[in-house]
Amino acid sequence: RDGEVELDAAVMDGATLDAGAVAAVKGFLPVSRIARRVMEKTPHLLLAGEGAAAFARAEGFLPQDLRTEASLARWRKWKAENGPPPPDSHDTVGVLGWHRGHAFAVCTTSGTAWKYPGRVGDSPILGAGLYADDEAGAAVATGRGEEIWRFAFSLRAVEAMRRGTTAKAACEEAVRRLLQRRPKAA
Ligand code: ASP
Repeated sequence: RDGEVELDAAVMDGATLDAGAVAAVKGFLPVSRIARRVMEKTPHLLLAGEGAAAFARAEGFLPQDLRTEASLARWRKWKAENGPPPPDSHDTVGVLGWHRGHAFAVCTTSGTAWKYPGRVGDSPILGAGLYADDEAGAAVATGRGEEIWRFAFSLRAVEAMRRGTTAKAACEEAVRRLLQRRPKAA
């Protein structure tokens, strides 16, 4: 709500279940690479806020202002009008792949428009925004993070594939669960 851009990102390796993530980090790109460094260089899964920024600086990432004239103009207009956030405006990039016979997942986002400072969505959370396990499959999610996280969509989809469900049916199962349990959220 100050026009700043806070980013969330995570990576997960399906061979080892190693993972790394950053949340609510301001002023660095690409955050998926910072998440990867968290995986490779720390004993932790997730660094957030100023701690994540300090880690990025220590790893040689250069701070930059991610706001653009256009994004600031949109934010000032919204602020002046005091209106609701635009519905479902979000921008997550999810990547699933196979590398040397192993599954991996990457999820990166600036989250939802005009979010509260410090808001963390599903994207950097294992099981919510992404999951990868060579023994079952990989999944990444996009959409309203609060709903995705509440239902642990990505883990739910991977566990469905572990039972032999197709990828499409696994995603449908997760969405069906949301629709049954929280129809008003749809
Ligand atoms: N899931 C993201 C979040 O809530 C938004 C998106 O998918 O674009 O942060």
